[in-house]
Amino acid sequence: ALRTDSDPLERLNPAQRAAVVHGGGGVAGPLLVIAGAGTGKTHTLVHRLAHLVRSGADPRRILLMTFSRRAAAEMVRRAERLAVETMGPTAEVLARGLTWAGTFHAMGARLLREYAPAIGLDPGFTIHDREDSADLMALARHRLGVAGGPRRFPAKSTCLAIYSRAVNARAPLDEVLRDAFPWCAEWHGELKSLFATYVEAKQASAVLDYDDLLLYWHGLMQEAGLAAEIGGRFDHVLVDEYQDTNRLQSGILLALRPNGDGLTVVGDDAQSIYAFRAAEVRNILDFPDAFSPRATVVTLEQNYRSTPEILAAANAVIGEATEGFRKELRSDRPAGPRPRLATVWDEACQVDLICRDVLAAREEGLALREQAVLFRTAHHSGPLEVELVRRNIPFVKFGGLKFLDAAHVKDVLATLRLVQNPRDRVSGFRVLQLIPGIGAATATTVLDTLADAADPDEALSAVRVPARANAQWQEFVALFRQVRPGKLGWPGELEAVRQWYEPHLERRHDDAAPRRADLLQLEAIAAGFGDRTRFLTEITLDPPSATSDESGPPHRDEDYLILSTIHSAKGQEWRRVHVLNGVDGCIPSDLATGTSAEINEERRLFYVAMTRARDELTVIVPQRFYVHGQSKRGDRHVYASRTRFIPDRLLGHFEVARIPVATATAAPALATGATVDLASRMRAMWG
Ligand code: ATP
Ligand code: MG
Repeated sequence: ALRTDSDPLERLNPAQRAAVVHGGGGVAGPLLVIAGAGTGKTHTLVHRLAHLVRSGADPRRILLMTFSRRAAAEMVRRAERLAVETMGPTAEVLARGLTWAGTFHAMGARLLREYAPAIGLDPGFTIHDREDSADLMALARHRLGVAGGPRRFPAKSTCLAIYSRAVNARAPLDEVLRDAFPWCAEWHGELKSLFATYVEAKQASAVLDYDDLLLYWHGLMQEAGLAAEIGGRFDHVLVDEYQDTNRLQSGILLALRPNGDGLTVVGDDAQSIYAFRAAEVRNILDFPDAFSPRATVVTLEQNYRSTPEILAAANAVIGEATEGFRKELRSDRPAGPRPRLATVWDEACQVDLICRDVLAAREEGLALREQAVLFRTAHHSGPLEVELVRRNIPFVKFGGLKFLDAAHVKDVLATLRLVQNPRDRVSGFRVLQLIPGIGAATATTVLDTLADAADPDEALSAVRVPARANAQWQEFVALFRQVRPGKLGWPGELEAVRQWYEPHLERRHDDAAPRRADLLQLEAIAAGFGDRTRFLTEITLDPPSATSDESGPPHRDEDYLILSTIHSAKGQEWRRVHVLNGVDGCIPSDLATGTSAEINEERRLFYVAMTRARDELTVIVPQRFYVHGQSKRGDRHVYASRTRFIPDRLLGHFEVARIPVATATAAPALATGATVDLASRMRAMWG
C-alpha cells in the first residue's frame, strides 16, 4: 500500500497497526483484538475496514456487525473518511459499497428476506418487537388454557424471557429454568407446550420475533445447507463488541467462517454486560482455542481516552472483581482532576448539582453534547428530566422510553404491518379494534379469513361486519386495497395510513395535537427509508432510540446534554460524565439477586460507566430517597449507602466531596428564549 505523510497507519501504535494490516489487506486467518476500554478497539476496526478497502477488497463482500445501527453507520462513515485521505474521492465510491453493516439482527433479516423461499418462509414476513411478541405469547397462553388455575402461571413477559433465553443460549428448557428461573421450574411441562403453541402461532402469522432472526439465519446455514453459499458472499467479517454476543451469534459466525479465515472480532471481557440476555463472555475468551492454532491475538494496553486519574479509579473498581483477566491499562494523557465522589442530601440535590455543573461547564465553553449523565435504569433520570425542562437545558435520552412505544405510533405501524402481512394477528387485532363496532369476536373472524385467503383484498371485501361498524369498515377496506399494491410509493403509503387514522386519533385521544405531530415526525423518519419493507424492518429492529423535548430525534447541529442508560452508552465517550445514583440498590441494582455472577455483571456495568469519561468524572451518592408507599407504611424516605463498588479502601482514588444543600432560589437556567412544551415532554416520559 502506498505510504505518504498522511498515511493513517502512521497514527496508530504498533499493536493497533499489526491488527489493521493483519493479512496484508487480503483474506487472513482469524484475528482477535481483546483489550480494555478506550484502547482504540473500535478505532482499530475502523482503520482495518479502511485498509481493506484501500488494499482492493470488494466492499460489497465485507460484513460489519456491531450492537446498533447507529454505531455501524458511524464506523462506515469514519472508514470512508480515512480511505479518502489516501485514495481520494475514489474511496468514496468504493465505500458506498459497504452496505453490509449493521446489527446481527438486521443483517439476518436482510438475508432471510432473500432466502425465505428456500426454507418455506413467507418473504413478506413482518417482525415483532418484544411487546408484540409478548402479546402473541399471551394469545398462545390463552389458546392453551394454562393461565387459570390456583397456582400462578408465569406472566407473558416472563414466558417470553424464558423462551428467548433458551433460544439464544441454545440451552435446553430445564437447564434454563434451573439456572435462571428456578421459581418457574414447576411449570416445565406447561411451558414446553406453550412454546410449541407460540412457535405455531408465529408461523401461522408469518411473523418472526427478534430471536427468530438469529435462529432462522443459523438454521438457514446449518440445516438448509446454505452455509457455504452465504459464507461465500463475504470475504471479510468484522465484529465489534464481541464480548456481548451470545452462543447463537457465535454459531452464526462459525457457520459463516468455518476455519476463521477473514474473521476479525474485537471486544473486552471486562465490559461484558449482557449476560442477562444470554450473552456469553466465553465466546471471546475461547476464541483463540476455537481457531487454534491459527488464531492471532492482539492486545492493546494504552488507553487514549481517559486521564490517568480516571483510569486508575476504573482499574481499581474492576480489579476488585473475583473473576476475569487482570488488564492494567495505562494512559499517556496529561494529569487531570481525580474523579469526584459527591455525596448529596437527596435526589433533588443530586439533580441540582448536575444542572449547576453542566451549566458551569458550558459557561467555560464545553458544549452540552460533550457531557453525559449515565444511570443504571431508564426511569432513574425522571426527576432530572423534569428539572432540565424547567431550566431550559435541552437534552436527548438514549435507552429510555421510545417514541415508537406511544399508542398512536403503534397503531399506525400496526396498520402498515397488517397491510404488509395480512396474516400478522397481533397487528391485526390492534388495527381492527380501532374501528368502533368491531370487537374481539369480529376481529378473530376477519383475521381467520385473511389467514386462509389466497387473495387478501378480495377476502377482506367479502367480510361482513356488524351494521354499526360498516361505514368505517369500508374506509378501512378501501385503505387496505389502496396501500397494499404499493402503487402509492413510499412514504406516500404511510401518509395514506395517517390520514385514514386521523379520525380515530381524534376520537381516542383528548390531546390529539401533539400526537399528530408525532405522526408527522414518523413520516419524516420514514422518508429516509427506501420502501415500506425496509422501513418496517429497520424501525422494529433498531428504533430511533432517543427521546428529546421535541419528541423526535434531534437535529445534528443542535447542542444538547446526553442522558443515557449505561447499557446504551456502550462504546461511546464524553469529556465530562456524571453517574447518577451511585448507591447500593441502584448499582448494583436491587434486581440483581446477589449471586456473585450477577454482582460481577453489575460491577462491569459500573466500570463501563466510569470508562466513558475522558476528562472529568463525578459519581453522585444521594443519601435519601423518597419511595411511594407500597404496603401500609405509605410514602416514606429511605436511606441509601454508597455503592459497594467503591469500598473504603478505594476512596483514595476519588476526591470525596460533600455537597451542601443548595438554595433553590439560586437555580440558574439556560436563557434560550425558547419555550418548552412541558405537556408533550411529560407525555413522552411516561407514555
Ligand atoms: P470501548 O471499549 O469503550 O469500546 P475502544 O477500545 O473501542 O473503547 P475507541 O473508542 O476506539 O476505544 O478509542 C478511544 C479513544 O481513543 C477515541 O477517542 C479514539 O479516537 C482514541 N484513539 C484510539 N487509538 C488512538 C491512537 N493510536 N492515537 C490517538 N488516539 C487514539
Ligand atoms: Mg469500542
